[in-house]
Amino acid sequence: MLIKQSSIETRTALTVLAHPDDAELACFGLLAKLRKNGWRVVICIVTRGENGADPTQWDRLNEARVAAALIDAEIVVGDFIDGFVPRTRELISWTEAMLVDHRPDLIVSHHVGESRTAHQDHVAVEAAVQIAVRRTDWLPTLLLAEDTDHDPAFRPNWFVDITDEFETKLAAIEMHSSQSQKYYMRSDYQKLRSNRWALNFTAQSHEVALSKYYEAYFLVQQVN
Ligand SMILES: [Zn+2]
Repeated sequence: MLIKQSSIETRTALTVLAHPDDAELACFGLLAKLRKNGWRVVICIVTRGENGADPTQWDRLNEARVAAALIDAEIVVGDFIDGFVPRTRELISWTEAMLVDHRPDLIVSHHVGESRTAHQDHVAVEAAVQIAVRRTDWLPTLLLAEDTDHDPAFRPNWFVDITDEFETKLAAIEMHSSQSQKYYMRSDYQKLRSNRWALNFTAQSHEVALSKYYEAYFLVQQVN
C-alpha cells in the first residue's frame, strides 16, 4: 500500500497543481495523512493565482503558505500566468525539473480526463505531469485528484479515508480567505463530497459511512 510508515529513508509526495488553493481542495487529506506517516510533502504551485483575486488586496501565496504550514509541507511556486498556463515545452520542462529535484515516490496532479469544461490551466498541468512522469528514470506512483467542480466523467479507482484528517483539510481550505465566496470552499460542500465517496465506495452501513470522509483519485500507476 502507498501509506505506510517509512522505514530507512523518507518517502516523498509531490503535488503539481495550477493554483494556490488546489492542493487544499484536491488532496489535503491525503497529504496530511502522509505527513503523519513520516513522508516529506512538497506542494508545487504552477501560478500565483493572480487571476483569482486582486493581487493588490490579497496575497494568495501567503494563504497557501499558512495552509501548508498546518502539516509542515514545503511549497515551490512557478511563475506561469494564472489563466494562461500553456501546454508547452516550458511547462513540461519546469514539471520535469520539479520531479528531478525532489524525486518523489508519489505524484498528485489534477484529474481532467474526458472533461470538456475543466479549467484550462488544470488541463495543461495534467498533460505536462503525464508527459514528465513518462520521462523519469524511476517509477513514481501517479494519482490524479478529483477536480474542484463536480465532473460526471470522473471515475475514481483509488480512495483514501481522510476522516482523521478532515478537520485539518477544512482548516487549510479556510486559510484561503480571498476565495471564500466560492461555493466549493464551503465546509458543507466539502463534507457532502467526502461523505458521498464514503457512502458509495465502502461496505459500511449508512450510519457509519456518513461519519466518514474520503478523497477520491484516479490511479494512473502504482509502484510500491
Ligand atoms: Zn485550480
